[in-house]
Amino acid sequence: KPTRCTPASSKPNQPAAVVRAVAARPDLLQRLAVQTAERAQAQLQRRLRTIDTCQGPFVESGGQQLLAFCSNDYLGLAHDPRLVAALKTAGDESGVGSGSAHLICGHRREHAALEEALAEWTGRERALLFSTGYMANLGVIQALLERGELCVQDKLNHACLLDGAQLAGATLKRYPHADVDAAARQLHSNADGCALLATDGVFSMDGDIAPLRELAALCASERTSLMVDDAHGLGVLGEDGAGSVAEAGLSETDVPILMATLGKALGCSGAFVAGSAALIDGLTQFARTYIYTTAMPPALAAATHRAVELARSEHWRRDKLNVLLRRFRTGAAQLGLPLMPSRTAIQPLMLGDAQRALDTSRALEAQGLLAVAIRPPTVPHGQARLRITLSAAHEEAHVDRLLQALESLRLGASPTGAPV
Ligand code: PMP
Repeated sequence: KPTRCTPASSKPNQPAAVVRAVAARPDLLQRLAVQTAERAQAQLQRRLRTIDTCQGPFVESGGQQLLAFCSNDYLGLAHDPRLVAALKTAGDESGVGSGSAHLICGHRREHAALEEALAEWTGRERALLFSTGYMANLGVIQALLERGELCVQDKLNHACLLDGAQLAGATLKRYPHADVDAAARQLHSNADGCALLATDGVFSMDGDIAPLRELAALCASERTSLMVDDAHGLGVLGEDGAGSVAEAGLSETDVPILMATLGKALGCSGAFVAGSAALIDGLTQFARTYIYTTAMPPALAAATHRAVELARSEHWRRDKLNVLLRRFRTGAAQLGLPLMPSRTAIQPLMLGDAQRALDTSRALEAQGLLAVAIRPPTVPHGQARLRITLSAAHEEAHVDRLLQALESLRLGASPTGAPV
């Protein structure tokens, strides 16, 4: 029996009506090509760049050395020799691949030790590793919510939180950014049945911090579980870098579902969910993106474990990052540059128009600086920006060089009037 995708011409015995109907079916790849061309025409196509060096303040690409301000390696750990050594040693002992999913025979002692360290760091009973943050968010929301149940989310949440709600078939309601009253109204509108409120801890494109205490109070009064994705807060905020939730003084009771990634401040790759033993046991049974996928390489888990130790103990990294952030924001204010009000490593320079953002990024590149333009649909229309990120790997002289380059471009205020 021919499949739906077999071309009509290769099915000589089919009735004419079926052949005609199939011939009328639009070609999927052709449509994709049209959509891609449209995106290019609107100057919104994404570009893939190959980097030839490890992460650091400087990277090399296409033979050019660039001072980079776009990595999420906020603590400068991605190229730390101690992590590389941990990776090599564990690689010698454990090989490369884990061999299977955790629940088959892929769960190694390196994974177990990392989970324990992450639970301890975040003050949670247990933690569960996922191969990526994207998969963690898909898996958690799909495991928790049943079809039609309420999932309330900040409008600026990361795409994978939104996709998680869709995968669960949940009723997704998105409140205006950081608007706790609007979130409350959305919860009231559907008071029966289970509900989940999910928010980024630090918003990935704006760099601001969610109103976590207010959201926790709301969730407590609404019998709603609060989930925080702290991908950009872990390592950067809070005492010992335990993240935005710890900084806000919130416990496991306030935020029962804490997720964070390992590929940003920790300089590695992967993600975890931390919470009660009951949550972790439940996710182990029901989170499809945990169950049906290969466990991360054990050597990577060992290197990440070392990264957790360094991120916790080397306070100077957070201190240095904060010094650099103050220097950058003070300099930008003196130049009248339209920065968002962020105190995290993410410092978006608002340029409004997608073309203006692209032009600015290219002009910086001509001066040897890498700061990538972020355009719709990643951010709303009219809010294109350079997502400038700082890292403890930078020096003050690097920040000054960035400020000088931005000054030379005479950017002035943004058309959107974003605050400095
Ligand atoms: N959550 C947030 C807030 C993110 O910014 C990202 C990735 N940038 C993810 C989740 C996904 O994490 P990962 O890259 O590990 O898939």
